[in-house]
Amino acid sequence: MGKSTNTKLGILGGGQLGKMLALAAGNWDLDLWILDKDKTFPASKFVDHFVEGDFKDYDDVYNFGKKVDVISIEIEHVNTDALIQLKKEGKIVHPDPEALVIIKDKGLQKQFYVDKKLPTSPFHYFESAAEVLEGLKQNEISFPFVQKSREAGYDGKGVAVLNSSDDLKRLLDCPCIVEPKVDIDKELAVIVARNEDGTIAAYPTVEMAFNHEANLVEFLFCPAAISEDLEREAQDLAKKVIAAYDVCGLLAVEFFLDKSGKLLINEVAPRPHNSGHHTIDSAITSQFQQHLRAVLNFPLGKTDSTSPSVMVNLLGHGDYTGTPILDGFDKCLALEGAKFHFYGKKITKPFRKMGHATVVDSDLEQAKQKAIFIRDNLNIIA
Ligand code: ADP
Repeated sequence: MGKSTNTKLGILGGGQLGKMLALAAGNWDLDLWILDKDKTFPASKFVDHFVEGDFKDYDDVYNFGKKVDVISIEIEHVNTDALIQLKKEGKIVHPDPEALVIIKDKGLQKQFYVDKKLPTSPFHYFESAAEVLEGLKQNEISFPFVQKSREAGYDGKGVAVLNSSDDLKRLLDCPCIVEPKVDIDKELAVIVARNEDGTIAAYPTVEMAFNHEANLVEFLFCPAAISEDLEREAQDLAKKVIAAYDVCGLLAVEFFLDKSGKLLINEVAPRPHNSGHHTIDSAITSQFQQHLRAVLNFPLGKTDSTSPSVMVNLLGHGDYTGTPILDGFDKCLALEGAKFHFYGKKITKPFRKMGHATVVDSDLEQAKQKAIFIRDNLNIIA
């Protein structure tokens, strides 16, 4: 199977990642189908077959899957039981739903790295806030620590950093993992791709800078300011991780580089990812085209950068909710090398990802200054 542009490809999820996949699929005139709840979602205008339904619902996913030849995702929180059934019935599902079950649950994901002897920080499981408190009392864990809900975490939601007992009011009451707070030097990510032939290709490592108020990525820098040895180590590790999961498609591997120079796997996403958005404008093959190549079992594209670049997420202004209005766009468009991508979400909310911009510049420092200018001058208000 695979290797035909007539293959019917179905994607679960029609948000910004679905939209950017649809734009890439459009270049090849692929027969793309997308499942998501509402025709007002970002991908809907860019795909011939937008099916309304809930990717968390068994019947919706199953019935959608029956219509297509190959099924993939742009979000991991989908109904995996339906995907497992579709796979049993002979449909091609990438990433493999068994791996998705592990990745969706931060507890199973951490245990996977332990089992495969891949480096990650140590952790404990707890069922509730009361159990975490008991763990503290028994000295199983100690401050500072990070608590993460096992399921449905996304963009920093479901993550609580607790530095001292003053922070205990922020404790999450749900099945969770607790890990020591890592003394982070840099947060890095490598996107890797793998096709059914087993070919693996890694993109250059990117460095992520976080907006700590919103707890999500604000800037990406490519290349990352790391040594050649570390670059190789991060790419090799990411390749090992995708091979260990035995998945096809993309896998974004997020790392912590701690202050002692050690790389730790934080978490992965088996799909296009925010840490690869710059590749649309500054790589030979964009992550979205690479995902299509990988899930359809075409040869993978070259991952080299065509230019240094900085990506900045365009977040909804902290004070506005409502129909988005762009303020300051003309000033930003005047910047040389700045490329803008707006997702077309109908409502802006505080810190909602409304778009991104990538600045390409032969000088990474210049690109950073322009990206900061965009962050400070382009306001998404209502
Ligand atoms: P999400 O799935 O919401 O992206 P992450 O596990 O990536 O959640 O955590 C979000 C952010 O919280 C990380 O990018 C990092 O900045 C911080 N963080 C998470 N775990 C740790 C840790 N063990 N030590 C220090 N900071 C952490």
